[in-house]
Amino acid sequence: MELNFKRHRRLRQSASMRSLVRETYLHHEDLIYPLFIVEGENKKNAVASMPGVYQVSLDLLPAEMDEIAALGIKSVILFGVPAEKDSTGTGAYHDHGIVQEATRIVKEHHPEMIVIADTCLCEYTDHGHCGVVEGAKVLNDPSLDLLAKTAVSQAKAGADIIAPSNMMDGFVAAIRKGLDDAGFEDVPIMSYAVKYSSAFYGPFRDAADSTPQFGDRRTYQMDPANRLEALREAQSDMDEGADFLIVKPALAYLDIMRDVKNEFNAPLVAYNVSGEYSMIKAAAQNGWIDEKAVVMEKLLGMKRAGADLIITYHAKDVAQWLNEK
Ligand SMILES: [Zn+2]
Repeated sequence: MELNFKRHRRLRQSASMRSLVRETYLHHEDLIYPLFIVEGENKKNAVASMPGVYQVSLDLLPAEMDEIAALGIKSVILFGVPAEKDSTGTGAYHDHGIVQEATRIVKEHHPEMIVIADTCLCEYTDHGHCGVVEGAKVLNDPSLDLLAKTAVSQAKAGADIIAPSNMMDGFVAAIRKGLDDAGFEDVPIMSYAVKYSSAFYGPFRDAADSTPQFGDRRTYQMDPANRLEALREAQSDMDEGADFLIVKPALAYLDIMRDVKNEFNAPLVAYNVSGEYSMIKAAAQNGWIDEKAVVMEKLLGMKRAGADLIITYHAKDVAQWLNEK
């Protein structure tokens, strides 16, 4: 019997041959490490639902940044956990707010480090929503003014990139105009363009103390069932002047990532969210999986799906593993 078939195993026969034909790699440059900055002194609070993740106070930030830089990580995204909150999130756009101060400290100690400022109100509002609230409603347009103000104060503090996450319509347009009018036309916007209303955000809300006090975020974050809506959201943000597009979460949305990558010519960022991190940590602590192998495979999958950059709580571990190679 004469068989006719293709021998795919030829290209898998040795480690050298496999590395010769490998299509996707993870690099230090791909990693963005999220940091939670808390008020007070000498604080390093473990986040119970995210093993290995801490809230750190400003005085401990230089040492934290030394460690991050020494591992080879090139960029961080900052989240503030203010001591006081109010109905309009004043702390978000105060010139000496927690993220603004943290930005100054990072840039002073590590000027080459890219500082991405998360731009939202939910960590600063007493109701925990991402915008201005009237009754049970989150108002769109009044929230835009406060977001633009927040972005400008972050740029003033030295942030290299503004990352608006609140999913109000027109937020990129409002922030772009705010930055331009204030003389920050060179500061790029990394938009949370495609952000789903996801149960995978649970542990983050412990870390950032930002759980909504009433209702949920489904009137502004996207329905997980929708795919075409992601393209409409990304299109709007591109039209309004976004320089980077984020898809969040990552793991359950790799198809969306590929769609956005195919459709838009902008650097694509995967947000590997807290729940995705904590599941792996929990399984690894139980000895059920090989943490390193699973994390590397997961992040490689995000790059293969089209991500150019990955915001991930695993960044320190991954940088360390890459250094050991
Ligand atoms: Zn928010």
